[in-house]
Amino acid sequence: AVVTRFAPSPTGFLHLGGARTALFNWLFARHHGGRFLLRIEDTDRARSTQPAVDAILNGMRWLGLDWDGEAVFQFARSARHAEIAQAMVANGHAYRCYMTAEEIAAQREAAQAAKQPLRVRSPWRDADPATAPADRPFVVRLRAPQEGATTIEDRVQGSVTVQNAELDDLVLLRSDGTPTYMLAVVIDDHDMGVTHVIRGDDHLNNAFRQLPIYRANGWPEPVYAHIPLIHGSDGAKLSKRHGAVGIEAYRDELGILPEALDNYLLRLGWGHGDEEKISREQAVAWFDLAAVGKSPSRFDLKKLENLNGKYIREADDARLARLVGARIGATDTDLLTRAMPALKERAANLNELADGARFLFAQRPLPVAEDAAALLTEDGRATLSATHAALDAVHNWDTEALEAAVRRVAEERGLKLGQVAQPLRVALTGRRTSPGIFDVLALLGRAESLGRIADQTA
Ligand code: GLU
Repeated sequence: AVVTRFAPSPTGFLHLGGARTALFNWLFARHHGGRFLLRIEDTDRARSTQPAVDAILNGMRWLGLDWDGEAVFQFARSARHAEIAQAMVANGHAYRCYMTAEEIAAQREAAQAAKQPLRVRSPWRDADPATAPADRPFVVRLRAPQEGATTIEDRVQGSVTVQNAELDDLVLLRSDGTPTYMLAVVIDDHDMGVTHVIRGDDHLNNAFRQLPIYRANGWPEPVYAHIPLIHGSDGAKLSKRHGAVGIEAYRDELGILPEALDNYLLRLGWGHGDEEKISREQAVAWFDLAAVGKSPSRFDLKKLENLNGKYIREADDARLARLVGARIGATDTDLLTRAMPALKERAANLNELADGARFLFAQRPLPVAEDAAALLTEDGRATLSATHAALDAVHNWDTEALEAAVRRVAEERGLKLGQVAQPLRVALTGRRTSPGIFDVLALLGRAESLGRIADQTA
């Protein structure tokens, strides 16, 4: 059975790249009817924080990426990691290395002089353990293969080979006895039964250092899939200078719906023909690693907002009303729900939706935007007075009757409908743009509508 995992380090918020990695792992597991696990890699004690853990868990919940079982915290497993390292020393797959800082520095200088990357060669690899100095600190190093080559058949990158001579005997346990990241990842993935390691391609090099640990222990090796990172519109690796990278910013500041972000992240680096809008069910049915592209994809906020707009138009009105109500501090979500079909026609995000909804809750007399006030000319006010009289005579306050009344005003005064509707819109909403004017009248109701019009004609 397929087991995948998402293994974030809680040193910051959940960012777009991490969310996409989580999504791909989630989809792959769900597609295969397998399990999707979550492991918090909190071994960097100085940089790991509880708020970051919370941000990751909340971000995943928000995106609907539910994980199976309890989240595993890596630091809590340190004793297990150390135990495996000791066992590897006992069976010869690892050794205690007593090299001093000076000895390593000397190798570093030599490598620099030869313009070579540092590959530590420890004399303790082949030394007789009986000659080990007592009371001197040591690290535990993997006795890595030095001959031959290691090839990874990566599901995304294809076949990638590294000469073993290029790898050094990586440290498994530090001199204080704490496990290194490389060791912890492999042991945890093994213990958690992970079959497929799907992660950013910045970890591809690590795979060549992690595989020998599997082999030394005789553990089944996972399938690797290293997915390209997300880049910004300028082609550089996505970073803060491209704008928001944290998931919360997309939810809170940019007003993106989670299903839209999921869909966008899915399409960023994976495709199914030309399909743009892909439902959760379709994504689970269609997802595969073969269709993950090898080159980095570029993040494009405009495209995300375009997709978001489509999801807004499909979203349940009561749900949108709750989200918008929270943004503008409106508690009458019934009114918002009724207004939603008219409001959501054009909005690309929840901010635009909230902005468009504000007029519903504005207090009289309405503040009128400057560009809108320009429409309240003398003629405009005269038309508005006539409109007030016509609407005052409407008894059945529904869109049909309201439309008939407003059209009659236009006809009687020899005006186009727009010439009547625009001043009316300004009086009712304080703005030049709003949902359809008859919807606005119906939503505001008779008393509020007539009051707002009177405020501008007096
Ligand atoms: N903790 C690592 C990171 O956040 C991921 C390790 C892995 O996926 O193997 O980049």
